[in-house]
Amino acid sequence: MRLLKYFSFAVGLVVLILGLTSSVRAELPTVAVITTGGTIAEKIDPATGGAVPALSGKDLLEAVPELAKVAKIKVVKYSNIDSSQMTPELWAGLSKTVDQVLADPLIKGAVITHGTDTMAEGSYFLDLTLKTDKPVVFVGAMRDASDVSPDGPANILNAVVQACSDNAESWGVTVTLNQYINSARDVRKTNSTNVQTFNSGEKGFLGYIAMGKVYRFHDRHDRRRFPLPNKLPKVVLLTTFAGDDGSLLRYAVDQGAAGVVVEGVGAGNVNAEVYKAVEYALKKGITVVLTTRVYHGGVFPIYGDQGGGETLEKAGVILGGDLTGPKARILLMLTLPQVKGEPARLREYFKH
Ligand code: ASP
Repeated sequence: MRLLKYFSFAVGLVVLILGLTSSVRAELPTVAVITTGGTIAEKIDPATGGAVPALSGKDLLEAVPELAKVAKIKVVKYSNIDSSQMTPELWAGLSKTVDQVLADPLIKGAVITHGTDTMAEGSYFLDLTLKTDKPVVFVGAMRDASDVSPDGPANILNAVVQACSDNAESWGVTVTLNQYINSARDVRKTNSTNVQTFNSGEKGFLGYIAMGKVYRFHDRHDRRRFPLPNKLPKVVLLTTFAGDDGSLLRYAVDQGAAGVVVEGVGAGNVNAEVYKAVEYALKKGITVVLTTRVYHGGVFPIYGDQGGGETLEKAGVILGGDLTGPKARILLMLTLPQVKGEPARLREYFKH
């Protein structure tokens, strides 16, 4: 009889604990993890010795058992490619997918696993086109899954913590690696191999994640949104160099570019030959945006010789503010369809 009493008490206790755990898990928020590929999902291919896409979303999550205490995860596979193979068209599809997934009221936010090579532009593309206001966190890794100490698992855990955190509201799309949170508009990849590769230059980090908590440094007030055009216009990016004869720019125009981003030198200058090629483009009704290869500061109408920023602006070139060349290209692809026939409106979108 006593044995039966102990047994039913033990069973009762187990049921209680199971009940409690499932109610605790039931309370956990749900986060979508949308996978696209990148080093975070790559492994060394023994045949070639090079890193190639290899891990599924399920594999990525299995490497982070700690996630079970933070959120319930819904995995959505979008692609599994190295981000060097990404295109604006693929980002347009990703943007639609993220909005569809986050339309589910039960889902708190999304984490997007993506390669770091083009993550700065990809995250900006979504920052400009997503309809949702829910948190969207781009994450990746600098060491692949075959490496000695892959940084992917800790980055995924932190990104999910951020997507769940009330302290991470209204930041739009962010890039979060190595515990640092960057705004998609200002983030850059600054080191080709080091885990601390992403930063936002003089704009600084939005926040930091430590021990499962988000520490907020700044708010964001510069988010703009544009509808996704049915077809993205052809916009090319050209970096100028000493002795540039302008032939590449003329070629791009003759090849049907609807817009050209010229990454100039200094505060936004090109030489006289490139200036003539810019005039050639403008005469053909092609939009030209000027940025600089210089890391900090952006472009200004300071210099007045043939090719100086002041002369270029007077000729009809749009100064790209402090956007990097690749991001100015994304912004021009999304705004050109909006301003058909009114290029002056573009100036507004590219202001510092
Ligand atoms: N090549 C990789 C990629 O962008 C680099 C990385 O993810 O770190 O997909």
